[in-house]
Amino acid sequence: MIEIDGSKGEGGGQVLRTALTLSMITGQPFRIANIRANRSKPGLMRQHLASVKAATEISGAQVEGDALGSTSLTFAPGAIRAGEYEFQIGTAGSSTLVLQTVIPALLYAPGPSVVRVSGGTHNSKAPPAEFLQRAYGRAMADMGAQVEFKLERAGFYPAGGGAVRASVQPLAAWRRLALDARGERREAYAESLVAAVPGGVAKRELDCVASAMGWSGEQLRFQVLPDHWGPGNALLITLEHEHVTEVFVAFGEKARRAEEVARDAVAQARRYIASGAAVSEHLADQLLLPMALAGGGSFTMDVVSQHTRTNAEIIGLFLPVSISFDKRETCSYCEVRRG
Ligand code: ATP
Repeated sequence: MIEIDGSKGEGGGQVLRTALTLSMITGQPFRIANIRANRSKPGLMRQHLASVKAATEISGAQVEGDALGSTSLTFAPGAIRAGEYEFQIGTAGSSTLVLQTVIPALLYAPGPSVVRVSGGTHNSKAPPAEFLQRAYGRAMADMGAQVEFKLERAGFYPAGGGAVRASVQPLAAWRRLALDARGERREAYAESLVAAVPGGVAKRELDCVASAMGWSGEQLRFQVLPDHWGPGNALLITLEHEHVTEVFVAFGEKARRAEEVARDAVAQARRYIASGAAVSEHLADQLLLPMALAGGGSFTMDVVSQHTRTNAEIIGLFLPVSISFDKRETCSYCEVRRG
């Protein structure tokens, strides 16, 4: 039984999600105490509980402590089963984080699976659905994992009501990925999504991105979503390079000016561009787990967050890998090695 102190390092929900994924794959049971101890509302929120329920169903696990607000959990998995799964978060909690918990495990199932998760699809502090499709999904494909994502309906905070579907094929073999450089830029564009928010907001956001980035009309897209999906507004900046795709997002909220939303997304994209790194902060922490399963991999990254370091520690509890971070001139370098 692996014992985990959930207050260690960043002390957030990722500690639990990484443990669930790797427990299913390695078959090692774990017990976690102090779940999300460093958050203002500690314990299992709906999104975390949905991840526990999803992992339980997929692996026929025996579980104790799977209740809202619970600060400790014991999880003992059985065999991973392929199937058609449907999970509901019940709030605007992040559907994409639930998907990221179960997808690596379903790669080890004996047949193809389809997983549909409903809840939020465009949440602050979580990957938007487009990030899964373009950034995470592309890197997974380059590592040999065939996963397709479909955004069925956008869901914003606080109403939720969105849904993302993932189709997962069993993994034939992992390929090691060395993302040392991002390569030539192939495409760059900004998208503003508005639901029950005036179209003028999207226009102002895109104008602002255009002047900050020096972009022209065909790089600016806006999508007006049905009013009853809202209110919601997300501004996405996608940078597609030869070896990697990155997606940056900022969210509109009441009393937040469109120009401020644009400045936020532009600042993230600029920080990444200036670093010269292949991978930005969020993709970095999400690549560690598949690279560890692949038995190795490396990438240059713009920022080594505490989230990334904590994730590396939890991975090390389940898999015989070492994960190192080194400073380079304008960025950092991460290497995942066996042993
Ligand atoms: P809590 O911190 O409340 O426990 P949580 O379980 O929702 O919350 P974290 O443990 O903070 O979440 O993990 C959030 C995950 O979402 C991380 O993997 C992080 O890389 C990812 N993420 C956050 N913001 C973005 C973003 N803008 N784009 C892509 N991924 C993101």
